[in-house]
Amino acid sequence: MPELPEVETIVRGLRKAVVGAQVEKLQVIDPHISLPEKEIIGKRIAAVERRGKYIILRLEPHGSLIFHLRMSGRLLRVCPPGEGKYSRLVLHLDTGVLRFINPRRLGTVEFSDNGFPHKLGLEPLGSAFTVRRLRGIVRHSRSPIKLVLMNQHKIAGLGNIYSAEALWRARIDPRRPANSLTAPETRALHTGIVEVLKDAINHMGTTFSDYRTADGDKGGFQEFLAVYGKTGEPCPRCGTEIERIKQGGRSTYLCPKCQI
Ligand SMILES: [Zn+2]
Repeated sequence: MPELPEVETIVRGLRKAVVGAQVEKLQVIDPHISLPEKEIIGKRIAAVERRGKYIILRLEPHGSLIFHLRMSGRLLRVCPPGEGKYSRLVLHLDTGVLRFINPRRLGTVEFSDNGFPHKLGLEPLGSAFTVRRLRGIVRHSRSPIKLVLMNQHKIAGLGNIYSAEALWRARIDPRRPANSLTAPETRALHTGIVEVLKDAINHMGTTFSDYRTADGDKGGFQEFLAVYGKTGEPCPRCGTEIERIKQGGRSTYLCPKCQI
């Protein structure tokens, strides 16, 4: 699933291409998608923003189109060969098309005339995400720290990949109860989260299979992952074999020696 760096990369790509463009036609192909055409056609796109893993196209003078890509959704300015059949929605703009490709129909698109309608936690790259705020989040939970990091109501945008990588950077075992983290560990975790997200954005995100940038390119951060998907490979820090465990029904990855 695209996480914060992938969604941010898509948003930056779209911003360059669609801000100021006018919506000329709305081609709704998936009957499950219901959008108020009158509120959208003829409007200009004032801004493209990200909140957590959501992509927001703000319309002028009001209203917004909000996309969540979930597992395999894509928002593209180009149509990859053979994938036209998975187009669920096409926005015809005066500068080109924007195509919502959603093979498994897990992604969503909605219209909101009243701001952003979802409750989300802190933006980890925002100024409000301080060590102190992270300390406040972890000290009130006995859940495993990795599950706390993935809780969108606490911190918005971290998923399975970047929470595993941030915990490796901070040398913390993902199974540790959140409230057992010491102050220095919390500080290291804060640094780990912020730095792994920035590094991943610099490499246009991580592509294992479906994720593409708005221009259809793959990300490059899969070359720089330390533990995610690396079962049996040496830890880049100490050489110990990376282990895979199940946590909350999903795989997680850690170095059994240097994550304690
Ligand atoms: Zn290690």
